[in-house]
Amino acid sequence: MNNGNVIHIGIDDTDSKYGMCTTHLAYELVKFLTKKVKFVDYPKLIRLNPNVPWKTRGNGSVSLKIETTNFNKIKPQIIDLVIELSDISKGANPGIVFYHNDIVSHKLISFSQAALFKLISRSMVKKFLNSNNLDYFSTGNGQGLIGAIGAIGYKFDDHTFELISYRKKFEIGNKRKINLDSVKLIQRKYTSIFNSYYKNRILITPHGPDPVFYGIRGDDIKSLIYASKLIQTKEKPKGYMIFKSNQGTSSHLDNIIDTSKFEPYSSGKIIGSVSKHPIVNHGGHVVFAITDNSNDVKCISYKPTKLTNVSMSLIVGDIVCVGGGIRKASKLHDRILNIEFIEILKLTKHFKLINPRCSKCNKNMKSGGYNQGFKCIKCKAKSSKKVICEIPRNIKLGLYIPIPTAHRHLTRPYQRIGIKNTNTAFDKTIPWFHVYDHDFSGE
Ligand code: ATP
Repeated sequence: MNNGNVIHIGIDDTDSKYGMCTTHLAYELVKFLTKKVKFVDYPKLIRLNPNVPWKTRGNGSVSLKIETTNFNKIKPQIIDLVIELSDISKGANPGIVFYHNDIVSHKLISFSQAALFKLISRSMVKKFLNSNNLDYFSTGNGQGLIGAIGAIGYKFDDHTFELISYRKKFEIGNKRKINLDSVKLIQRKYTSIFNSYYKNRILITPHGPDPVFYGIRGDDIKSLIYASKLIQTKEKPKGYMIFKSNQGTSSHLDNIIDTSKFEPYSSGKIIGSVSKHPIVNHGGHVVFAITDNSNDVKCISYKPTKLTNVSMSLIVGDIVCVGGGIRKASKLHDRILNIEFIEILKLTKHFKLINPRCSKCNKNMKSGGYNQGFKCIKCKAKSSKKVICEIPRNIKLGLYIPIPTAHRHLTRPYQRIGIKNTNTAFDKTIPWFHVYDHDFSGE
């Protein structure tokens, strides 16, 4: 279907670390457009390459899909709202793209894929917009246009949902107070909900001065709505919106990294054999190397991910698939892959040369000194050489991911392994957008 009245609106780079939030802007935009247009899909929250150096938090961008015969009238109103709700004075560079077609072209899909895996330059995006005759608006340096196209062009192979609840204006900056037991309850009751807490730490609340109160993530949209009713708090949020998202899918790691280039800031995975023994560095992080197609690349597991134990257990010759982002080189270190998962595909046998055992006493023999062979201290029997012994491996084949407190938004949690949501239908009967009260005096 090519319906000329269907428009995708992609938006990015509206916030700064001092305030605002692109998802909140999308919430306000939906509130503004509710009676003016028809929504033909869920709002999308797309996390692009998490290794871009200028991201504020999770490199999130949003898009809405609407149907309207009144576009010329609402377009300037949308632009005004984006400007009003962007933290431009603190460095935000908002970009908006209006894509006038129901079906998204392959070119946008490819652009979005590149934005998920690599670094895209501002000159590339300008060229792309002009050569594809796209309708757009930007302020500042136009950086936000990359995410705006990325959100429109993202093609889901798997998806999750996030219900994001927003704070009233006077609450922004205050501590978020939510009852931990109620968070534990929603995760127990709705098994499709993930990463809500870890041990006694709540993971649904951010910590900054932004308008997000909490975000509940899961596979089933209805469960999110029921769960949000069970969250116990004294604070009265102003409303919520549900986004369809690539969070929890690890889609940024589907890319096979070209180890001959090993480009900084790109994301993806590498299959290779361990070529340098793991060592622990000063910070307690573990560094090792793998070889793929004769290219040796360094890998690092950071302490907070708790992938350090499994990394330390690797030995030269093990075959692994490692996923993550490439950190650029500095004066002190080379380019290195920041590990986000390790999958052990094959464990090599671990042999070690050890002192021989006495065949009579069954005791380990002691070295008699340099070139002096070995001697049993009990019966004085002698032996000339060390013997080869197989050391049992203390790890198993399989996938290892960081603990939930060290997850990126995109990380696929253990709970979602083997799960793929492919139903793309938009159920407009589901209350995916809701304003709690119609008295906006608290705004
Ligand atoms: P939040 O998660 O709070 O919405 P953020 O982490 O998304 O914030 P932004 O302020 O939006 O941070 O900054 C990210 C910027 O990076 C945006 O301008 C976006 O267009 C741009 N960007 C996204 N992906 C890429 C990429 N692959 N290459 C270059 N720039 C990118």
